[in-house]
Amino acid sequence: MNIFLPSNGIVGIKTVDMSPPKIKHLRQISELSKINEFAKNEFLSLLLNNFADLNKITIFDRDYLFLMAVSAIHLNNMEFTFTCKCGIENKGSFNIEQKDVIFFEGERILKKKIKDKEYVFNILTVGDEREIIEYALENEEKYHERFELALVAKTLGMFPHAMDEVEDLPLNIFYAALFFQQCVMHGIEPIHRTTCSCGNSTVVVIPVMDYLTEINTAGIMTKFAGLANKLDFKSFNEMTIPEVESFANIK
Ligand SMILES: [Zn+2]
Repeated sequence: MNIFLPSNGIVGIKTVDMSPPKIKHLRQISELSKINEFAKNEFLSLLLNNFADLNKITIFDRDYLFLMAVSAIHLNNMEFTFTCKCGIENKGSFNIEQKDVIFFEGERILKKKIKDKEYVFNILTVGDEREIIEYALENEEKYHERFELALVAKTLGMFPHAMDEVEDLPLNIFYAALFFQQCVMHGIEPIHRTTCSCGNSTVVVIPVMDYLTEINTAGIMTKFAGLANKLDFKSFNEMTIPEVESFANIK
């Protein structure tokens, strides 16, 4: 399935070829990295026709593809409960098909003059992020500090040669670089605005990774184990979740 990327191809490629998750992929969830970003990459590399594409897309493209893949496992219906400040517990559902995709309009780099000095801000790729995380991991105790420092350095084109200078940047530039990475958001934000029966509206942030790692694969396998007798095991493994659902409903 060819998917058009929300970055509009600003960092190189415009589309990727991705298959929907299949039963066999669910078995590999427990083996994913403990680092969230790496776990997303590992799961997507199972689905992408050419996993080398991953390094050539933006971080937001990757998050978009990841959201699509996890949504597919839940048949595009990610259910959640939330407790309103009035105390009522509400149920809701996040459906990717009802969300608009934000496509990025603009260039990969933005030049900005701040107090007579020109800074170049870069939109980051998954490949950039990998380098940032590897740098941060060199001292795990200071992971978050080093991650932020490397993120700013990558954004401003100072990684890895000018890390000392990054620490000496004026604070407004440092924060502008972090803020820039939020402002160039594209894809689908995993948030859902919903209204409680009391009238209060709330924004629910969907923890997409949890919807993958906390999926009850044992439950799914048991539920459909009977089907494996009706199909050969290989075709069972190759089935997508919607296929398994519809097969189970017919039989
Ligand atoms: Zn309420």
